Amino acid sequence: MRITLLIALLTLSTVFSQTADEKQIKAIYDMALTNGKAYDWLNHLSNQIGGRLSGSVQAQQAVDYTRNQLDSLGLDRVWLQPVMVPKWVRGTPEFAYIETKPGLTTNVPICALGGSVATPDVGIKANIIEVKGIEDLEKLGIENIRGKIVFYNRPMDPTKISTFSAYSGCVDQRYSGAEEAGKYGALGVIVRSMNLRQDDYPHTGSMSYGDTPVQNRIPAAAISTKGADLLSTTLQLNPDINFYFKQNCKQFDDVESYNVIGEIKGTTYPNEIMIVGGHLDSWDLGDGSHDDGAGVVQSMDVLRLIKASGYKPKRTIRVVLFMNEENGLRGGNKYAEVAKSKKENHVFALESDAGGFTPRGFSFDCSDEEFAQVQGWKKLFEPYLIHMFIKGGSGADIGPLKDEGLVLAGLRPDSQRYFDHHHAENDTFEHVNKRELELGAATMTSLIYLADKYGFGIQKKIKG
Ligand SMILES: [Zn+2]
Repeated sequence: MRITLLIALLTLSTVFSQTADEKQIKAIYDMALTNGKAYDWLNHLSNQIGGRLSGSVQAQQAVDYTRNQLDSLGLDRVWLQPVMVPKWVRGTPEFAYIETKPGLTTNVPICALGGSVATPDVGIKANIIEVKGIEDLEKLGIENIRGKIVFYNRPMDPTKISTFSAYSGCVDQRYSGAEEAGKYGALGVIVRSMNLRQDDYPHTGSMSYGDTPVQNRIPAAAISTKGADLLSTTLQLNPDINFYFKQNCKQFDDVESYNVIGEIKGTTYPNEIMIVGGHLDSWDLGDGSHDDGAGVVQSMDVLRLIKASGYKPKRTIRVVLFMNEENGLRGGNKYAEVAKSKKENHVFALESDAGGFTPRGFSFDCSDEEFAQVQGWKKLFEPYLIHMFIKGGSGADIGPLKDEGLVLAGLRPDSQRYFDHHHAENDTFEHVNKRELELGAATMTSLIYLADKYGFGIQKKIKG
């Protein structure tokens, strides 16, 4: 009898608290969908400012703009956190062609990879050799590679349902392809764009020379998927063709930039900090609407929606707009460095950096106990078609904060179209859908609300 009563009471209390949570979450979604600010902010970032590569005038304009907008929200504190960032400039548009016979050429779309060195002023013309990955270099050996351009052509695997898995299956070609091919005497590298679609947009992205001495660095460019297929077919017909490319990008000294931060002080546990963020910098070819303008404006809207809903967070909630995720991660590293030096107690970090598409759920980087707890919240998201709660990665910018007892999470939108736009000229505002963007902001706000209301297990209580 007593047990029955206890169960009844427990059930009753669950019902009551669920009703309160359901109501609060409904209010958050309603506000985001009727009175959201994310889309207007994104419109400004994309159409008034544009691509925001670290160290550029546009990156500084984005810092000023988002700081002013956060100031206007009546948060408890808004500030800029200085950070030195690399400054790489693309220069004049790149140019490339396939030469099947002397004088018989076909132009193909390319773009320099971020961080690449320039070609000589006259460009590079040489035989080109196709490989499916870095591991092929060793098989070919220095005698087959020296004096040639290496063409990395392993495509993203279309059978992977998460396009991020397909991306991580090829991105080593882009990131380390030049460093590795340089060791075999290659003159330059051309990398198939990380794109599942056939189109004419080359996709840039970061690359590294590792510890290769400056004089041994070879230029690297991405070729569009259609260009890559044309090049590959042409090579099958005649392996002796030449490839020409020219680019005049340049690396300058580091410059000062900023992470933009705003916070609402917690009422009960002000020293327990929860952050929500995205990265303010973007590549320069498009306007960075999906990557990561969407994550920036969604994160800003989380704090606005929390305030507008009348909910008083127990813990301190911070929005962090990180600088330089794309080609250095300096902002994320700086934020973690300052947090650690101030002995700040971060209990939850959420990042949105996977595009402004329909939200599907979250991935969590946390303990099994913490994951069991967040899974208990899953049913609250069902009415909004949010169903994917998985263990996995979170976000690049919040990664450096990783510490025992800190729950990290990443918003997981539908990923099918993300790599159509990622790091390319067509990552632009018109490809972001207003409702999808707002649903993402509401989904993030709801998770922040639950994480604040319930905290994460007993571990935090001891730590806090
Ligand atoms: Zn990004």
